Amino acid sequence: MKIIQVKCPNCGQAIYQKTKDEMFLCQNCGTIHYRDDKGPHRVPFEVAPPNPNSGGQRFYMPFWRLRCDFHIRSRDVQGGLLHKLATTLRGGDNGGNLYIFVPAAELDTTTFRRLAVALTTSPPQYPVRQDFGGIERVPTAIGQDEAIEMADFVAVTLEAEKPGTLQYLDYELKVLEAKLIYLPMVSTPSGPWLAI
Ligand SMILES: [Zn+2]
Repeated sequence: MKIIQVKCPNCGQAIYQKTKDEMFLCQNCGTIHYRDDKGPHRVPFEVAPPNPNSGGQRFYMPFWRLRCDFHIRSRDVQGGLLHKLATTLRGGDNGGNLYIFVPAAELDTTTFRRLAVALTTSPPQYPVRQDFGGIERVPTAIGQDEAIEMADFVAVTLEAEKPGTLQYLDYELKVLEAKLIYLPMVSTPSGPWLAI
């Protein structure tokens, strides 16, 4: 296993971490940052507490929650799932605000799709925390920029859940804000499931 050491950009503490996780958590000040060729960037994040009644091995999985502005260009998609979600959030006629969840861990396509659709159609409610309570984190494999590029893919996936509407999909999606959300999960024979 390869370990690298970086310095926390917020408090200066040394952080030792496995190289496969793009997100560096400082044990001293609790901030998370990632690094690219422009240097360190602090990442806003939230942690959801696990359901105390959930059995099995718990772990935290990272998701990018993208607050999106969403507009429909074509009236033909009014029956689509995206339109329904966006109008629920802001009540507009042709669009509105929408949270799109992009799984940030390395996942197979089926699990990625299942989690993205489940969370985007039904965003979890939880008391926000900033600490992990000693529960292990799954490494983040998808960075913020990559997640923003995937927002459209998730939108199209959502729309494809309702057959027959995809060919009429004509919309505009703009990501306004990205936040890293750590959700508690448990391992099951059919893959990871939410443990909120
Ligand atoms: Zn720090």
